[in-house]
Amino acid sequence: MKRRVIGVLVVLLSLAASSRTVRGDDVLRRVEELAKQVTPQVIEWRRDFHSNPELSNREVRTGRVVAERLREIGVDEIKTGVAHNGVVALIRGKKPGPTVALRADMDALPIQEETGLPFASKNPGVMHACGHDSHTAMLLGAAKVLVQMRDQIPGTGKLIFQPAEEGVPPGEEGGARLMIKEGVLDNPKVPAIFGLHVNPNLETGKLAYRLGGLMASVDRFTIKITGKQSHAAMPWQGVDPIVASAHIITAVQTIASRKIDARQPGVVSICIIKAGTAWNIIPREVVMEGTIRSHDLDVRNKAAEEFKRIVSQTAAANGVKAQIAFEDYGPVTWNDPELGKKTFASLVRAAGEKNVLETQPVMGGEDFAHYAQKVPGFYIFLGVRNESIGAVHALHTPKLLLDEAAFPLGVKAHCLMALDYLRREAGK
Ligand SMILES: [Zn+2]
Repeated sequence: MKRRVIGVLVVLLSLAASSRTVRGDDVLRRVEELAKQVTPQVIEWRRDFHSNPELSNREVRTGRVVAERLREIGVDEIKTGVAHNGVVALIRGKKPGPTVALRADMDALPIQEETGLPFASKNPGVMHACGHDSHTAMLLGAAKVLVQMRDQIPGTGKLIFQPAEEGVPPGEEGGARLMIKEGVLDNPKVPAIFGLHVNPNLETGKLAYRLGGLMASVDRFTIKITGKQSHAAMPWQGVDPIVASAHIITAVQTIASRKIDARQPGVVSICIIKAGTAWNIIPREVVMEGTIRSHDLDVRNKAAEEFKRIVSQTAAANGVKAQIAFEDYGPVTWNDPELGKKTFASLVRAAGEKNVLETQPVMGGEDFAHYAQKVPGFYIFLGVRNESIGAVHALHTPKLLLDEAAFPLGVKAHCLMALDYLRREAGK
């Protein structure tokens, strides 16, 4: 008897589980089918953005085209001019529920493209070398899928097309910070946000995730070293800022090797040195720029403090003056572990279990971090590497190629992260 009761219970439970699966699979099937249908357009949209890249805070055409596409797609609400050229769209589901945000970035980089693609950049010296063209196109693709699934959406999807992810020109505001300031996380309130970045180290068909810190905090610094100009032949009559800078560059190497806890990642890189006008003049000034990266606030603070001390005291020891300016680009991109654990199933549904990999923390930065400081966020990597077509080059390089065959998975991942979140939260 007891055995029979248990048997019936097992049957009932498995029926309940399978009906859940059937409903789940229906959504998955729909997303898969619609993502496939929209792929040719995603490719076309992406190639158009790729041919017409625009720098941070200058994405006028991109913002206009995004708004036009969203109008054609038929989203419920479009707001333009957010954080200069940003666009925010709402898709309202037919059932009640919370809101969820999906974010893509739209800006390009000051790089001369060398891909030789038929749809290569038409703007000399400007290139979509970080894949933001594809991010924008894939989010438009997700918009088109979600609009056709309104009857299955409990709640609202908020699509954020963000300008100036790569950093704003000096003296300007922009990017995620300005979007937040202008209320992108309010009206309706956003309780969770998702985003993705193409990754040329990861094969097409794969997704990578990490719970906790995914990308590094980024500080940018500028050092101005001032000495006294003199003839190259009579250095004792001046104060040489170049020799002083050489000491400073060497001295700051001890921050990563000797000052930061060796169990924590931290990087200090000087990437620009500018000085001199002639081979026989010791100049008055040297300007250096670079960045400090870390995955922990204490490491970040320690590195910045040591940096200031070492630079100013090495300068003093060499008889030059040092002016140091710091600009905080963004904190660690923090993937909310709770949200991440729940979203893992959506990644598996999108890519298949063997195609979802855990990744190491990376030292690159991402201004998605600002949203994830305000609300739980989850940011993933989409594989676009394909050796057979030469899609192997790194981001921020002139030969970057993306494997367009990866795009349907990007669209699916966006849609499933959002849909599964809404269904989970609405069902509570
Ligand atoms: Zn990027």
